[in-house]
Amino acid sequence: MNELLSPAHAAALDAADPLRQLRDQFLIPQHDGADQAYFVGNSLGLQPRGARAMVQEVLDLWARIAVEGHFTGPTHWMNYHRLVRDALARVVGALPVEVVAMNTLSVNLQLMMVSFYRPTAARPAILMEAGAFPTDRHAVESQIRFHGFDPSTDLIEVQPDEANGTISMGAIERAIAEHGKRVALVLWPGVQYRSGQVFDLDAITRLARAQGANVGFDLAHSVGNVPLTLHDTAPDFAVWCHYKYLNGGPGAVAGCFVHERHARDASLPRFAGWWGHEQATRFQMAPEFVPELGAEGWQLSNPPVLGLAPLRASLELFDRAGMPALRAKSLQLTGHLEALVLARLSNVLQIVTPTEPERRGCQLSLRVAGGRAQGRALFEHLQSKGVLGDWREPDVIRISPTPMYNRHDDILRFVAEVEAWAGL
Ligand SMILES: *Cc1c(COP(=O)(O)O)cnc(C)c1O
Repeated sequence: MNELLSPAHAAALDAADPLRQLRDQFLIPQHDGADQAYFVGNSLGLQPRGARAMVQEVLDLWARIAVEGHFTGPTHWMNYHRLVRDALARVVGALPVEVVAMNTLSVNLQLMMVSFYRPTAARPAILMEAGAFPTDRHAVESQIRFHGFDPSTDLIEVQPDEANGTISMGAIERAIAEHGKRVALVLWPGVQYRSGQVFDLDAITRLARAQGANVGFDLAHSVGNVPLTLHDTAPDFAVWCHYKYLNGGPGAVAGCFVHERHARDASLPRFAGWWGHEQATRFQMAPEFVPELGAEGWQLSNPPVLGLAPLRASLELFDRAGMPALRAKSLQLTGHLEALVLARLSNVLQIVTPTEPERRGCQLSLRVAGGRAQGRALFEHLQSKGVLGDWREPDVIRISPTPMYNRHDDILRFVAEVEAWAGL
């Protein structure tokens, strides 16, 4: 145990890390002349050094040739969304035809529910987790009302049943068994944003589909954090954003997955726009809508090129590392953090996130002993020392060591600052 706590051990782990050079590909915010210990990749991922050149390339083309930029060169804007498609498919374990970068997460969630939440009098309900991220709750409730149904009976929320406010697979299974015949859509997160819990998406998909319900996932906290196999898992759809673990920059264009089994289904209801029209005939500008094959058929507008550009730089790094290696490092980093919290900080911090590595990603949610005032004081102390986590009311600090750029040394700094604050 003592070895785990020593700076020499952390330094050895960092030196032996096969992904250590990735950190140099990022701009790390500074604090008092040193790198911050940045644990907020779950909120806004850091800027890849390559992002500026990607944005600059667009600005330069715009300045030099303006409208011709739509058609000129290998990165022409007409198909700019396709520059990220294949790498994105690799990150989420999908076929290229199943993914598209478009809009933002909440918009994609609404668009997907237009197609995959098709309530009937006999089957009107959406089943989701209690305590979901607000946008998911708002989107679901507004869809239920939009179709003339009643959220008080047709929005089914599965309550946490475990000690730390996490939800067991048993509770999900029981809820789907109990309500299944009334459920039109199961909407579930891949990683719970508050607790950091990872869910078994294969099992949830199987249970929901066995009841005849559609399945959609919000993967905001999963993409780039845990390995995904969306094609094989086979939900109907998934949505996610790119500014968290995918380092696409503030407000980055989001992601969307539609399973291949729907790729050719022109009969699905959808809210259409010209960019979802079959590419080969799009510029005939005919009045009838013919959807492009796959997820791209849900696009509305021509691609927001400046909003996509930084993502290209980040995806190059994901391709270089690969999700299996990132996950391996992530398990080691978060395991190290957990061991130190348990050994040294257990009087101050209680780990809310499940202890089983397969039930969590990189994030640990840490409840501060003594309640909100103590929690805020610790949080502000950490900030003043250049150790950045994020705060969740009323008393939780989330610390997310991301394998792309965090080090074991960052974890030691976090532990040392909590100890200094607590006088340990
Ligand atoms: C971050 C996050 C969002 C954000 O939605 P935007 O449309 O990108 O603002 C939505 N849902 C979950 C679960 C998130 O974690």
